[in-house]
Amino acid sequence: MREGGKILAATMREVSGAIVPGKTSPKMLDEIARKKIQGSGAEPSFLGYKGFPASACISVNDVVVHGIPDDTPLQEGDIVGLDFGVYYKGFHTDSAWTFPVGKISANAQRLLNVTRESLYQGIAQAKVGNMVGDISHTVQKYVESMGYGVVRDLVGHGIGKRLHEEPSVPNFGKPKRGERLRAGMTMCIEPMVNEGTWRVTTDSDGWTMRTEDGKLSAHFEHTVAILPEGPEILTTDDEGLL
Ligand code: MG
Ligand code: MG
Repeated sequence: MREGGKILAATMREVSGAIVPGKTSPKMLDEIARKKIQGSGAEPSFLGYKGFPASACISVNDVVVHGIPDDTPLQEGDIVGLDFGVYYKGFHTDSAWTFPVGKISANAQRLLNVTRESLYQGIAQAKVGNMVGDISHTVQKYVESMGYGVVRDLVGHGIGKRLHEEPSVPNFGKPKRGERLRAGMTMCIEPMVNEGTWRVTTDSDGWTMRTEDGKLSAHFEHTVAILPEGPEILTTDDEGLL
């Protein structure tokens, strides 16, 4: 998973580097992701998963998660969430990042900053002896203190030989509740944070989830290993930017 996570991080870096306002479409980004993952000797975890038609979920502006890549070029001021998984040597890793397209508003930038920070605050709680609820509560408390909504309909998850495993890792909840964290567990922590209401709707395609009020949403995710010495982020690269 450590090796697969490096492939994922390198792919995230390459795909995000291809974003050009007014030119790049989600479909083009999906194609870059698929080629990079396959070219690394791995497989895209999402392609065909429960019938999903692409290698990456690409979620623009009010789309929370599970956006299906289309041909509409990204525009200056958009925010775009890239979410994909890598299957390598029998194990999955899964990560998401939300990027600015060109120059974005101060409000949009603040949403990205808060969501990313909530991920790292959650990861800091992923240590032996804590419980899942300690992660959940920490994320929720921080996000809500900044005036945003935490999505309830989707949660983080265990990961390993399967893309989604037990336990569920909600981004909301009470401390000292849920499963106790043990050394060797691997899980995805993935806050989905809305500018306004936490409520979401699903498009008629059965995948695309949007904010109910049409305001922005951001999503950051890492695959994390819980080790005796503390959490290790598996889906980052050597430069530490992802
Ligand atoms: Mg995930
Ligand atoms: Mg994901």
